[in-house]
Amino acid sequence: MQIEEHVPLASLTTFGIGGEARYFVRVRTVEGLRESLDFLRPGSGQGAQNKNAPVYILGGGSNTLVPDSGFEGLVIKIEIAGIEIQEERYKKGEDSVSNAKTETEENKTLVVVGAGESWDGLVQYAVEHGLWGLENLSGIPGTVGGAAWGNIGAYGASASQSVAWVEAYDRVQRELVRLDASLCAFGYRDSFFKQRASRYIITRVAFALSRVAQPNLVYKDLALRFATAQQSKITEQKTTSEVEVTIEQETEPTLANIRDAVLAIRREKFPDLAIEGTAGSFFKNPIVSKEVAAALVAKYPHMPTFALPEAAGVKIPLAWLLDQVLQLRGFSVGGARLFEHQPLVLVASRGASSADVRTLASEVQQKVSDAFGIRLEKEVQEMR
Ligand SMILES: Cc1cc2nc3c(=O)[nH]c(=O)nc-3n(C[C@H](O)[C@H](O)[C@H](O)COP(=O)(O)OP(=O)(O)OC[C@H]3O[C@@H](n4cnc5c(N)ncnc54)[C@H](O)[C@@H]3O)c2cc1C
Repeated sequence: MQIEEHVPLASLTTFGIGGEARYFVRVRTVEGLRESLDFLRPGSGQGAQNKNAPVYILGGGSNTLVPDSGFEGLVIKIEIAGIEIQEERYKKGEDSVSNAKTETEENKTLVVVGAGESWDGLVQYAVEHGLWGLENLSGIPGTVGGAAWGNIGAYGASASQSVAWVEAYDRVQRELVRLDASLCAFGYRDSFFKQRASRYIITRVAFALSRVAQPNLVYKDLALRFATAQQSKITEQKTTSEVEVTIEQETEPTLANIRDAVLAIRREKFPDLAIEGTAGSFFKNPIVSKEVAAALVAKYPHMPTFALPEAAGVKIPLAWLLDQVLQLRGFSVGGARLFEHQPLVLVASRGASSADVRTLASEVQQKVSDAFGIRLEKEVQEMR
């Protein structure tokens, strides 16, 4: 374990902006994690002079905004590695209290993954090994730990649907704990660990994946891709059999094809990270009561709404409000702006500061509050 000082953080986040960490350490083992935390323990003798300095756990930095002034504490970057297929015939739910046969009791493959592994690397691994469950979440940046912490979701799937258990380091008890998925309080971009961020650090996550094909095409854009492709297959069939074979291979909703389709859709919705910075959706979609949703629909009859199984209430598509009602596509403050292709995505162009991002976010929050009486919650985490 090597604690470094005054480490620039911009290149360790997808926003690509912000200052430096007073202290910084890369952690590859649980033992290394424990030692790093000791650096700030009162009575440990060595280590930081300010024992009350804050700690920030960093994964891939794809949901983190670093202040321009940096972070006067210890940044612990989780790099715990490893992907291991542990059980080929794992039964999800077998260690639950009831032994009654349930739908979830089908045979699953248990894949145990270090929290520092790349999320998309894991999805690719699962696809290559014929394991179903993660493919709709292709292309999301960040680590496996970050994905479980924030319960990532996209295209009709969320990480929690495949998690079997999460292992975390408890900073109070100074020991590892393992929580079955049913105890992880997963919700819309939420988890037990997010609610207790100062106490638990995720070290490993186990996923229960399926060898049985189960394409999830509930998301309209995705379903449409395969439906359109099937349609063109039928049309081409009439002309030449050679074309028929080529297209057929591309149109079946196989694991690889679903991954490719999701990656293609995502390329249209997010900026190229090599050119501009972002942390994806800056705000959570607001969840409102049925009454508030009904009032909004009465005023804006074309606004789509989504009943949310993971939370009470109705999810309102913020991008629709920002775009169709407030017409904020491209709205900017300094070097920060709402992305033209998806206004929920806040982009930092070269030369932008974290202050630009913050000011833009506050202005959007204010406009949404004024227009709809809705208080927006940030999805992106500010390092502090
Ligand atoms: C282009 C782009 C597209 C995106 N698309 C999506 C999307 O479709 N769906 C979606 O849900 N998200 C999306 N995101 C957001 C982001 O990728 C996810 O939130 C991701 O899971 C963050 O993981 P990370 O490792 O980068 O977290 P970081 O940014 O490093 O950290 C985020 C938070 O998680 C905590 N954390 C991270 N690792 C651990 C750990 N091991 N233990 C405890 N706490 C931890 C941190 O302390 C911090 O509070 C997108 C981001 C970008 C840049």
